[in-house]
Amino acid sequence: MAKKTTFVTKEQIEEIVKAYPTPFYLYDESGIRKNAENVYKAFSWNEGYREYFAVKATPNPFILKILKEYGCGVDCASIAELKMAVKCGFSGEEIMFSSNDTPAEEYEYAAKIGAVINLDDFTHIEFLEGIIGDKFPELMSCRYNPGGVFTMGNDIMDSPKDAKYGMTKEQITEAFKIMKTKGVKRFGIHAFLASNTVTNDYYPTLARELFELAKELEEKTGADIEFINLSGGVGVAYKPEQTPNDIDVIGEGVKKAYNDILVPAGMGDVKIFTEMGRFMLAPYGVVVTKAIHEKHIYKEYIGVDACAVNLIRPAMYGAYHHITVAGKEDAACDHVYDVTGSLCENSDKFAIDRKLPKIDIGDYLILHDAGAHGYSMGYNYNGKLKCAELLLKENGEVSMIRRAETLKDYFATFDFCDILENADEI
Ligand SMILES: *Cc1c(COP(=O)(O)O)cnc(C)c1O
Repeated sequence: MAKKTTFVTKEQIEEIVKAYPTPFYLYDESGIRKNAENVYKAFSWNEGYREYFAVKATPNPFILKILKEYGCGVDCASIAELKMAVKCGFSGEEIMFSSNDTPAEEYEYAAKIGAVINLDDFTHIEFLEGIIGDKFPELMSCRYNPGGVFTMGNDIMDSPKDAKYGMTKEQITEAFKIMKTKGVKRFGIHAFLASNTVTNDYYPTLARELFELAKELEEKTGADIEFINLSGGVGVAYKPEQTPNDIDVIGEGVKKAYNDILVPAGMGDVKIFTEMGRFMLAPYGVVVTKAIHEKHIYKEYIGVDACAVNLIRPAMYGAYHHITVAGKEDAACDHVYDVTGSLCENSDKFAIDRKLPKIDIGDYLILHDAGAHGYSMGYNYNGKLKCAELLLKENGEVSMIRRAETLKDYFATFDFCDILENADEI
């Protein structure tokens, strides 16, 4: 079994906590940069390739600006995400708007800033027309849902027929015909058929399916297909026994499908887009938290100062996040613990029956692979506050890229009445 290592040491953490108390998120700038570079290298065979980073994974302007340096665009699904993108300097076709169940004001804003609108449903053609009129943008995209189950070899990866997203083949065909009459000249196809795939075959398999569809759509509708958006779903190895995806192999697999299907069809100028979130950021962010209690009842518990408010994935999905006890990287994992947060919810456990080294009060625990869908899924149950996000820079310095929430932030929505005046002084 591969040993999972992390990018931060106990000595570094001891320095950081002098300025920033635990818990906090820590992101590894050099890891983020190296990975972004590798992603672009893996798809460099495709001239128009672009990664549209899924903002929901790590909605932090400092992170978005790092990715922008590599040529990344952003994939947004709400007004807040669109506005953050604009604030970070993304514009026009650098912004993909892949939303669903979309409110009118979000379409209106997306159209206003010239984002590429990716329609989730056939009925949204009329809905959009009600907002922006019958002159549609020149470049638009539609989301495809093939139904059935998505399999690779003998493995069932996911069940598109049960997913709320996308259009059927008949609908997308009809949609392209109608959109042409409304001025759309350049088309995109988008699909997201399986999440957190830890296999190098997901993108290539999806690509084959979408390339065949693209050929068929061009034939049937005469639409000029400019891009194929493989969306997200490329996973990371959360567990030590998993083999991480190899983005070079993935890029080569997509290239082969491209050369097999699109090039012979005279479609060798189609751009490949991706909308990865998890793969771009998850391994390059951790939660650092301190052991503050130990409890011996029917099981052994370690209570830490982070809770599901900071990282909800274990509580929500039973997701595995590897834990390193800082400074005890090489110690024997001869203790079995439940590692818990403080919420009044028994699901608030970062680990259940986890073999770990003996943990002492004051030890720092590093929760791995929290860089995507980590901070951003946070909530405020029990009035617990969200923690800070820090960036470990390439030169070894640490800078704060989001401050921790304060009680004042938590009470801010009561600012229309006097009940919480002077809340800070109570
Ligand atoms: C969530 C999402 C992504 C990113 O997914 P990852 O699993 O983080 O790669 C990309 N596109 C869309 C439309 C999404 O909803």
